[in-house]
Amino acid sequence: MSGLAPLPWQAAQWQAVTAAQARSALHHAWLISGSEGVGKRSFVRAWAAALLCEKPDMQQQACGACNSCKMLSHGGHPDAHLLCNDGHLGLATDAALQSEKGLSYWTPKSNSMRRDIAVDAARSLMDKLVVTSHRGGMRVVVVHPARDMSDATANALLKTIEEPPAKTVLLFVTVFPQALKQTIRSRCQQLRFATPSKGEALSWLYGAHPDADALLLAEAGGAPLKAAAWLTSGESKRRALWRNTLQQVAERKSDPLQAAADLARDKSEAGQVLRLWQTQMQLQLREGGAWSARHDAFHTMLLDGLRRLEDHNANAQLLFESLLLRWRLLAA
Ligand SMILES: [Zn+2]
Repeated sequence: MSGLAPLPWQAAQWQAVTAAQARSALHHAWLISGSEGVGKRSFVRAWAAALLCEKPDMQQQACGACNSCKMLSHGGHPDAHLLCNDGHLGLATDAALQSEKGLSYWTPKSNSMRRDIAVDAARSLMDKLVVTSHRGGMRVVVVHPARDMSDATANALLKTIEEPPAKTVLLFVTVFPQALKQTIRSRCQQLRFATPSKGEALSWLYGAHPDADALLLAEAGGAPLKAAAWLTSGESKRRALWRNTLQQVAERKSDPLQAAADLARDKSEAGQVLRLWQTQMQLQLREGGAWSARHDAFHTMLLDGLRRLEDHNANAQLLFESLLLRWRLLAA
């Protein structure tokens, strides 16, 4: 993946922004929203690259080869800024390289300072925006995740939105657009990304990861980049193990108490196992599998268990034992 083209299900949004750009009517502030894993950041990287590229192609996509594209790939472009929990950095189209080789203008001194996007990061950005762009072209500022802006940061950036510097585009990226201040939202043009259709998502996912499967995509809520991230990180293998454990118990091939001990071994994972389990049940219901009042009752128990785990109000092993014993009966 070059990261320079929009994803296949983003054609309408790409068309909208490139058409505005071609008419020289590109709005200076955008609110980019959609669920986790639908490709918001991927779109923003492709768009930023296209805005800065010296030789964009017929579809207005970045060439990936000019000086600008090369600088941007590792976060070294002086006119591409990222405000995030790690501070004020150079935006990188190759996200993996960002922190290693990219520009770094201001970074938090401690981990606790990473809780929000600090106003010092915004001030550092504004110091850069008062001078004209380095390369005489556009400047791009990405704020992500936008909901992590502190109040002071949001207020500081509001001034920038109200009196935008020339040739500067601000892109606020968020899963939760409602959580942003109304004063910022109302000044942004909205660009929404829906979850792609199952067919589109699967065909892209298979292209990127031939070992992908439809179940994993379903567990990722249909979000292809989330499923892809699980495949890259090895999370998909852990999920396959959990699925297998549940199936073995249902088929009476393994002992529920032993399985409970296995699943509860890492307490930080217990909630994820329950969520996977719940997704499996929802798929069973949606796809017309066996379903009775007992399934309803069990599904409610799963949700209740998840809530108690998240409130730190449950012993994971005891919870898994009681669920798995019932699970075995349910499958009988
Ligand atoms: Zn280029």
